[in-house]
Amino acid sequence: MTREVVFRGATILTIDAQHRVLAGDVACLDGLLVHVGGAYTPQTSDYDIVDCSGCVVMPGLVQAHVHTCQTLARGRADDLELLDWLRKVVWPYEAALDEEATGASAELACAELLLGGTTAILDMGTVHHTDAIFESAKRSGIRATIGKAMMDADDPQIPRGLRETTRASLDESARLIARWHGSEGGRLRYAYAPRFVPSCTDELLREVGVQATARGVGIHTHASENLGEIALVRARFGGKDNIVVLDELGLLGPHTCIAHCIHLSAAERALLAARGAHVCTCPSSNLKLASGVCGVPELIAAGVSVAIGADGAPCNNNLDGFLELRLTALLHKPRLGPRTLPASEVVRMATLAGAAALGIADRVGSLELGKRGDMIAVDISALHTVPAAAPWSQIAYAAKACDVRHVAVDGALVVRDRALLTLDVAKVRERARRAAARLFA
Ligand SMILES: [Zn+2]
Repeated sequence: MTREVVFRGATILTIDAQHRVLAGDVACLDGLLVHVGGAYTPQTSDYDIVDCSGCVVMPGLVQAHVHTCQTLARGRADDLELLDWLRKVVWPYEAALDEEATGASAELACAELLLGGTTAILDMGTVHHTDAIFESAKRSGIRATIGKAMMDADDPQIPRGLRETTRASLDESARLIARWHGSEGGRLRYAYAPRFVPSCTDELLREVGVQATARGVGIHTHASENLGEIALVRARFGGKDNIVVLDELGLLGPHTCIAHCIHLSAAERALLAARGAHVCTCPSSNLKLASGVCGVPELIAAGVSVAIGADGAPCNNNLDGFLELRLTALLHKPRLGPRTLPASEVVRMATLAGAAALGIADRVGSLELGKRGDMIAVDISALHTVPAAAPWSQIAYAAKACDVRHVAVDGALVVRDRALLTLDVAKVRERARRAAARLFA
C-alpha cells in the first residue's frame, strides 16, 4: 500500500458544515486526509495518483443497516411480509449457515458494497460464525461495525440452531469485542445486535444496555418495522410501544442505531430525539416486505438523525447505496411536496449521518482535513448522467452503483477503474455459488 493516494481533478462534494463544492484534488497521507480542493503535490516518493476527471469525488457511502450474512439468500424470499419472511425463509436459512457459507455470504456482500461505493457498514450478523464475517470484512478492506445477532427468547418459531441462552449470547458478544473491536487500526468495530424485542428476553436487553455503555460499544437493533411485530411487543409489555420499551430497558442513547422505525407515534419520535438515538431507514426493504414507509421528514423535524441502509439481499434484493439514496429522496415527495428532502440533504444522510449512526462521524463521513481517507470517485460521464449540471442532483437522482470508478478506505485504494483490488471477484462469485448450492440443496 502506498503512503499517499491522490484523487486528481474532480468536482468535490465535501459534506462539510457549509456543504461546500470544490474542484481539484483530494489527497490522503498515511490514511489521513491532508488536502481537499485545488492542486496537490505529493509530499513523499511513495504515492499513487488516480485520474478522476469527469468524476464527482465524495465521502464513501455509509450504510447503517445491512445483513451481509444473508446475501446467499438473494432471490429466495420474495413476496412475503416480515414475520413470514423471517420464520419461513430467513431464520431457517441462517440456522443452516456454517462457517464457510457465512464467510462466503459476507465476502460477496463486501465486494458488492465496495464496488458500489459503500465504504462503511453497520452489519447485523447471525447468531453464530461472526468471526467469519469479520474475516471477510477484514480481507475486503471495507470499514465495518459488526455484531452477532442476539436471540435468547423462548420462542418455538425460532429454529433450534438460532436459539441461545442469555449467558451464551452475552459471553459470545464479549469474546467478539475482545477479539475484533478496534482492530485493523480501528477499521473494524463491534456493536451489540439484539435482533429485535420479540427475539430477546428482558434480561438480555437490559444487560446489553449496561454492557454497551460499560464497554463503549454501540447497539444495533430493529424496531417498529411491522404491525405484527408491534402487536407482539404491546402484548408482552402491557400495551407499551417499541421505542418506549427500548428506552425503559436502557438501550437508547447516541450509541444506538435502530433500523426501520416505520410505525412510530410522535411521542416515540420525541423520545428518540431526546436520547440522541439514530434511525436507519431502508426504503427498498420496507417497500418489498410491504412494511410501510418510514416518516423520515417527521423524524428529522423531531430532531432525529436518520441514516440510510439497504438491509439484506433477501429483502431488497441488492445492496446498492445509490438506489436507496434515490428512493429516500423520492419517497416522501408525493405526501409532503417536491421540496421535501432535497438532493444535498439526502447525500448528507447517506454519508455523514451514516457515520454518526456508527459513532464514527469524527473520523469519516465528510472530506475534511484530519479525517480518515474514505472516499469515492463517481463517474458522471455516462449517458444517464450527462450533461453534468449540478453534482448534488447527479449523485442523488441520476448516478448508480456501477458509476463508481475508484474507492479508497482508510487512505488505501480498494477499487481502481471499477476493479476490486482486495478480492478476486471471480473467486468471490464462485465461492458464493458453491455455498448457496450446498445450502439450498
Ligand atoms: Zn434488517
